[in-house]
Amino acid sequence: MTIKDLKPALVWSIFDEINQVPRPSKKEAKIREYLVAFAVKHNLEHKVDAIGNVAMWRPAAPGFEKAKRVVLQAHMDMVAEKAAGSNHNFDTDPIKTIVEGEWLRADGTTLGADDGMGMAGALAAMIDPELKAGPLEAFFTVDEETGLTGASNVGEGMLTGDYLLNLDSEDDGVITIGCSGGVDTLASFDFKPQPAPKNLLYFHIKISKLLGGHSGTDINAERANATRLIARLLWEAAQQIDFEVADINAGNLRNALAHTAEATIGIAEADKEKLAVIFNTFAANVKDEYKHNEKDMLIECESVDVPECVIEKRVALNVINAAFVAPHGVQSMSLAVEGLVESSTNLASIKVHDGNRLEIVTSQRSDVESRKFDVAHRVETVFKIAGADRVWHTDGYQGWTPNPESALLKIAVDQWDKLYGVKPKIEAIHAGLECGLFLKVAPHMEMISYGPTLRDVHSPKERVHIPAVQKFWDFTVAIIKAVAQA
Ligand SMILES: [Zn+2]
Repeated sequence: MTIKDLKPALVWSIFDEINQVPRPSKKEAKIREYLVAFAVKHNLEHKVDAIGNVAMWRPAAPGFEKAKRVVLQAHMDMVAEKAAGSNHNFDTDPIKTIVEGEWLRADGTTLGADDGMGMAGALAAMIDPELKAGPLEAFFTVDEETGLTGASNVGEGMLTGDYLLNLDSEDDGVITIGCSGGVDTLASFDFKPQPAPKNLLYFHIKISKLLGGHSGTDINAERANATRLIARLLWEAAQQIDFEVADINAGNLRNALAHTAEATIGIAEADKEKLAVIFNTFAANVKDEYKHNEKDMLIECESVDVPECVIEKRVALNVINAAFVAPHGVQSMSLAVEGLVESSTNLASIKVHDGNRLEIVTSQRSDVESRKFDVAHRVETVFKIAGADRVWHTDGYQGWTPNPESALLKIAVDQWDKLYGVKPKIEAIHAGLECGLFLKVAPHMEMISYGPTLRDVHSPKERVHIPAVQKFWDFTVAIIKAVAQA
């Protein structure tokens, strides 16, 4: 059994064609050529925009000219990951596929079903002679995986439909109807480095081996945040003893939960016992608080040599206070989708930059724009009250507010129910998707996202569930027909 034997034959044969074309993120020239050639071959009007996205249009079948236009959308890039020992060259080699029971996988590389399966479904709809439908657009973005730059820069004349089917989800039977937008809030606290007092004892404190995770999808998992914990420890210490701070280095990526944080402090010899009590009490409390999930958490304190410089004490205390009171975690839950985190903020990192300033990085998400800014403004105000020299926000990106009343969603739910006798699951995610960005150019477009079941995407174990592809295709056809007849 090979990919050539799988059904529906049209979808699988197009997927097989796509997999002959190298297409790692930011290197989409070849797959773009393929798409343009596809449109030319099948006599479809098409367009390439400045960033490199491709759109093509199929006219309505006779009698369906007045139907709403459906956009079938997928991203044309793929994550290029290979197993240790694979000599695959993602710039030149085709992806080799292997059928294994009910699954299709690649030979030591990512499969590119994310989002080649979406592309194949969209292209099949453009040429299937059996499909009698209203006007259709297929829209393919570049660089979804490493920056969403295609979706962020949709050219004029693309995305011309009323309804959009984003074919980039990974669970059969699930329809996604929303995603969060995001913005980062940063604060800089400037200081003049001071010569480190030689008469103090210096200690290096380290909190490590936390679970970490994604700042969106894991924000409600009640995991410990190393950046928050180091701020809490230093705040607790500051209530009882006087100390100098030589360094703070907490967290790493803005979109990750901090799993490691370190600080170096200097104390008077007379406070050595006090610090030991503060540290041991803190470590015992925190380990007990997180005994159910953070089982590997390590909290260490060791004596170190006198450093060269310390941070101005006033500034160090301002940063400790700011990070201690800055909100972290879930800020509101959605009333539109049960169990969905609506708004959150991640206290991501504290680092010394250029030897003369401390920067705190935080990241806010919400599927409701006004809530996203509400949280960002509160974080901004905390930093300003704490005496930050500069506070600023990144441009950020828009979210996609779930609309359970959407006409397109009603059609989709109905069709799934008719085909499979069950209601699909309706979800929204607390992370970014291309759909949110499309709203910038097409604010009134109704959208849903779905796709066949994929597992271990972005890894050499990526695979697609073969029976789910037939369901994915039948569902897509059913939606298109129902929209035409509505
Ligand atoms: Zn994808």
